[in-house]
Amino acid sequence: AIAVRRLSKSFGPVEVLHDIDLEIAAGAATCIIGPSGSGKSTLLRCMAFLDEPTHGTIDVFGEPLGFTEDGAGKRTRLPAQRIRAVRAGIGMVFQQFNLWPHMTALGNVSEALKTVRGLTKREAEDRGMAQLSRIGLANRADHYPSQLSGGQQQRVAIARALALEPKIMLFDEATASLDPELTGEVLNVMRQLASDGMTMVIVTHEIGFAASIGKKVVFLDKGRVLIDGSPQTVFGKPRHARMDQFLDTYL
Ligand code: ATP
Ligand code: MG
Repeated sequence: AIAVRRLSKSFGPVEVLHDIDLEIAAGAATCIIGPSGSGKSTLLRCMAFLDEPTHGTIDVFGEPLGFTEDGAGKRTRLPAQRIRAVRAGIGMVFQQFNLWPHMTALGNVSEALKTVRGLTKREAEDRGMAQLSRIGLANRADHYPSQLSGGQQQRVAIARALALEPKIMLFDEATASLDPELTGEVLNVMRQLASDGMTMVIVTHEIGFAASIGKKVVFLDKGRVLIDGSPQTVFGKPRHARMDQFLDTYL
């Protein structure tokens, strides 16, 4: 579903992602793990074109995202309209939920359907309610973010992304700012999406979750893909020494 080829990313003189090659399978969850500062968020942001790769290309369901590259490695930036069209198929959920505080749960989920997609109020609210039901919060539609728990707020943020009917969902540490007892309900929504066949890329520190949901696990270290394979090959024995060290630190 996503093909990352020879991607590098620099901020000023500092290169933080080096020559990344990665295939993200359609209809499955791919988990990205790795130490703090290894470049997980930057890689995910490149996949959403929120950060622009310095070198290399990304294809999303066969469509180039942002740049095309010719045989000689020369890149050309695509017109803004084509970039927008591909980005419209990509939903992203962040650690911070970023809900609009002055809008209800339903308002948050249906707003972009009206302003970006041009649906009528009625159509937008119908579709918004369907997404709230999907994540089990139809009964909280009229609540404002301040009246919802952190886990509920994050689930509304997920419903908001889903309402735009993305082909791919990207999650950057979606549970990292939640108390442990609220983490489970958000992970369960993500599990449900995986079993519905949603294509997902999930950056997470929840190693057990990555091992159980991920068709593929990618271990990023110092801006490189160090290990990339099924959970069994990545976490099973024999294990890469760097992975042992990482698990010792994080578990
Ligand atoms: P964490 O687990 O802490 O979220 P991460 O793996 O997501 O870490 P990134 O946030 O991608 O890591 O950061 C990778 C490197 O890029 C870090 O050294 C970081 O300081 C640097 N970096 C990230 N964003 C920028 C930026 N906008 N400008 C300059 N440097 C940046
Ligand atoms: Mg990060």
